Amino acid sequence: MEHFKQSILELIVETSTNLPKDVRKAIAEASEKEDAGTRAALSLTTIAKNIKMAEEAKLPICQDTGMLTFKIKTPVGVNQIEMKKAIYEAIAEATKNGQLRPNSVDSITGKNSGDNLGPGTPIIKFEQWENDYIDVRLILKGGGCENKNIQYSLPTELEGLGKAGRDLDGIRKCILHAVYQAQGQGCSAGFIGVGIGGDRTSGYELAKDQLFRPLTDTNPDETLAKLEEYIMENANKLSIGTMGFGGNITLLGCKIGAINRLPASFFVSVAYNCWAFRRQGVAIDPKTGLITEWYYQGDGTSQPGRLEAEALPLTGKEVVLQAPITEEQIRQLKVGDVVIINGDMYTGRDALHKYLIDHDAPVDLNGGIIYHCGPVMLKNKEGKWEVKAAGPTTSIREEPYQGEIIKKFGIRAVIGKGGMGEKTLKALKEHGAVYLNAIGGAAQYYAESVKQVEDVYFLEEFGIPEAMWHFKVSGFAAIVTMDAHGNSLHEEVEKSSFERLQELADPVFK
Ligand code: SF4
Repeated sequence: MEHFKQSILELIVETSTNLPKDVRKAIAEASEKEDAGTRAALSLTTIAKNIKMAEEAKLPICQDTGMLTFKIKTPVGVNQIEMKKAIYEAIAEATKNGQLRPNSVDSITGKNSGDNLGPGTPIIKFEQWENDYIDVRLILKGGGCENKNIQYSLPTELEGLGKAGRDLDGIRKCILHAVYQAQGQGCSAGFIGVGIGGDRTSGYELAKDQLFRPLTDTNPDETLAKLEEYIMENANKLSIGTMGFGGNITLLGCKIGAINRLPASFFVSVAYNCWAFRRQGVAIDPKTGLITEWYYQGDGTSQPGRLEAEALPLTGKEVVLQAPITEEQIRQLKVGDVVIINGDMYTGRDALHKYLIDHDAPVDLNGGIIYHCGPVMLKNKEGKWEVKAAGPTTSIREEPYQGEIIKKFGIRAVIGKGGMGEKTLKALKEHGAVYLNAIGGAAQYYAESVKQVEDVYFLEEFGIPEAMWHFKVSGFAAIVTMDAHGNSLHEEVEKSSFERLQELADPVFK
């Protein structure tokens, strides 16, 4: 079991830090299809750079190392109880080493278990099979994209697409709608797994299972193969693009499976995965516990594309902001501007935003920057905190609080990903602030721009990801996507993608 534990640890580290070759190939191909200099191309360049940095440093590609989900097939006679124990040990070790972020939180109290273990985490599904080796697959699916999963019950009425009936064309409409509703919030360009049929639970499970298929396979069911092909071609017509900035590539992969259902139910379940599609798999010898084969290595390339370029290539037209920032500086910014930030920045997620509504801040935030980020942090040998991964988290969760917090504390910039809603847009205009979109998942790229960890607040109460970290940054690049004049790139892209969605309403599969 000691060897088995080491093999699982290796699998976890590899999954968190190194994207599979088929995924790299899909990203590389996407980056070739975007015009150089566009926001989508700039984002893909940053993503490519980040993939390389994570691989070289053996650190998480994205700071959200997600829900650990294992699918394991074992020969008859293998002790699954002992295997489970070894998996738990490997997870605790990877968390301690900073290759996994502590991500397991008590649903009622919000307390973080600190080692990724707790009721329901990790997810481990065992199955017996006739082969003489152990097959272990692991996916790390982050919260941002998990929140964009969606389930439809047919027949239904879909915005922009009309009636979706209990037939192949109804399924087609649901899948297109699933991609549309995700916009850039799940860190597009994404991958989707679709489950047709089952009950609500097995339908979602089937959808997630599809994500374990190699991107290069062809569906053995001819009808589903045609549907996959259609979706790949047409979902990209929505032009949501990388990070929802607009662009030619919105979807990088689509895999569809079907199981039987009850006559009364017809579910279409969609599992949305971000570009940081971290899934790996190994074959393990049950006698030695050693890895005998790595999956997802065959067809692909290790080149994530556009690596030659500097991440977010600079043109000299960027606006340099030194925090604290003045209102005058902020009012000069427009949607589309690239900014480079130097100075102080404070992280804040759900727990902090909820807290700040009713309490004072522990520091003066006037003119300051709030970064929606739950970093991976480790103490070094001298006992000082170091940033191991620090990309943006999904901002829309803070929509109920953000406007009020901007007003109460005089915040000038909010950084996150995926954009925010009307209330925040109104507050930006009224109080002179901007929303800056950082590149979702680019956790290594942004960690590098943190030059010093100045302090941390609420660490005990909120845990590492939710605590308020005070960073000193240099050269932190982001794009203005909501300005102080009432403009929102997210609103624009949503509107134009809705028009394109409507164009796909006519039946295709009769
Ligand atoms: S890339 Fe985006 S959606 Fe994916 S895990 Fe990271 S933050 Fe979440």
